[in-house]
Amino acid sequence: MVPLSPISQVMTQTLHIIGGGMAGSEAAWQAANLGVNVVIHEMRPKVETFAHQTGNLAEMVCSNSFRSDDDEQNAVGLLHWEMRTAGGIIMTTADKHKLPAGGALAVDRDLFAEAVTATLTVHPNISVSYEEIDSLPDDGQWIIATGPLTSGKLATAIAAETGAEALAFFDAIAPILYHDSIDMTKAWMQSRYDKGETIEEQTAYLNCPMTKDDYEAFIDALLAAEKTEFKEGETAGYFDGCLPIEVMAERGRETLRFGPMKPVGLTNEHDPQNKPYAVVQLRRDNALGTLYNIVGFQTKMKYGAQTDVFKRIPGLENANFARLGGIHRNTFLNSPTLLDGQMRLKSKPNIRFAGQITGVEGYVESAAMGLLAGRLAVAEMRGETLGPVPNTTATGALVTHITGGADAKTFQPMNVNFGLFPPVDGLKSGRRGRKDRYKAYTDRAKVEWQAWLDQSALDDS
Ligand SMILES: Cc1cc2nc3c(=O)[nH]c(=O)nc-3n(C[C@H](O)[C@H](O)[C@H](O)COP(=O)(O)OP(=O)(O)OC[C@H]3O[C@@H](n4cnc5c(N)ncnc54)[C@H](O)[C@@H]3O)c2cc1C
Repeated sequence: MVPLSPISQVMTQTLHIIGGGMAGSEAAWQAANLGVNVVIHEMRPKVETFAHQTGNLAEMVCSNSFRSDDDEQNAVGLLHWEMRTAGGIIMTTADKHKLPAGGALAVDRDLFAEAVTATLTVHPNISVSYEEIDSLPDDGQWIIATGPLTSGKLATAIAAETGAEALAFFDAIAPILYHDSIDMTKAWMQSRYDKGETIEEQTAYLNCPMTKDDYEAFIDALLAAEKTEFKEGETAGYFDGCLPIEVMAERGRETLRFGPMKPVGLTNEHDPQNKPYAVVQLRRDNALGTLYNIVGFQTKMKYGAQTDVFKRIPGLENANFARLGGIHRNTFLNSPTLLDGQMRLKSKPNIRFAGQITGVEGYVESAAMGLLAGRLAVAEMRGETLGPVPNTTATGALVTHITGGADAKTFQPMNVNFGLFPPVDGLKSGRRGRKDRYKAYTDRAKVEWQAWLDQSALDDS
């Protein structure tokens, strides 16, 4: 790759970042350290959200944890490692304000956010403008990193540009699990009524059969499970299309059997003579085929309850979940259709998106997308194009997923997980081989991330 041109050429241009949360702060830090003038436009404290409590940049709205710090066995730990290697402000500040939390990276949230705010505001290349931006800019270089609680006016402007159906306001997430943890001696592949032109389409769904006893026990467990309460105003506009499964069960014990669990049009290949009483269907969630989501199973059950209840489904007794279900307020784009591989809005390429609004989920993932968007923007301002981040790295796996790897029709926000990584050849699948497999993923990722950083030559020297 051609090294980027000297910083003097980009000092005259400004990168505008809307939103000074996890992603916006990281993007600003990366760009400013590479010699670009940055303005962060942050609406707080003038305009508040229901979750933020302060006017600080990089405020953690809920948990004070950046999750696992294990960079050998955990995908989010690997993302920490990649961000540290790239000199990321979120990770280096978290390290300074770390609290004891076992293998997790937890921090003192106030000291953390205050330190990020102080570091960014004294940076000679950064200024912070405390204002709400309510429209999409026509020119200049911009990154929109306004997060899950993007203000209403800006969300309206984004929806006008992208089409309302391409901007979601709620996460109605069905649980996603690893394909290699499903017991295929019980489950089978078949689309309802064998619909589809090709064998691939006719066998697109993974089916788990239930007897009457299984079904009744499942409904009992669902009704008894602990649920999370909705916050005020949280339910508006979503209830029509996607009821939580436990709400369906409360409406009548047979509701699910006539809804997402209907057994019609399916024959159990392991027991063709016996018609299942109900069927749970799973659908492929990524191009690699390593992840499957349970169709129609959005839920407000607490996480512990979800694993208990879903492991009752025949075939899922040993299921390993990549993410559990949920329903939350969350503004996010249908990125696979709207963004190019450089995270630019295809219809307005002077605007990049970063953070949770792109359809990643979590503080760390959001900051990682900020890190990448900041670097991509600087490269473009220098008249260069950074090569794609390998999808064998945590950062690359995430950006590949949101900009094309995920199925656009069922796109829902995603945490980083090893299911997004291309498999390493020749390793044992299933639970037994997991430790070696994860180590192989992280070893490979570290080499390739370092090579990408070196290759992209984004030094200011
Ligand atoms: C209630 C709730 C709880 C959550 N709990 C967790 C958790 O425990 N752990 C976890 O990892 N993730 C959690 N998340 C997700 C979390 O919000 C994201 O992971 C992370 O904060 C996203 O980073 P971001 O930079 O994309 O957005 P944010 O960190 O939210 O930053 C976006 C910033 O943009 C600003 N902004 C919005 N609109 C405008 C505008 N028009 N003009 C100017 N500024 C604007 C906001 O004020 C905000 O500062 C939670 C989210 C919510 C809503």
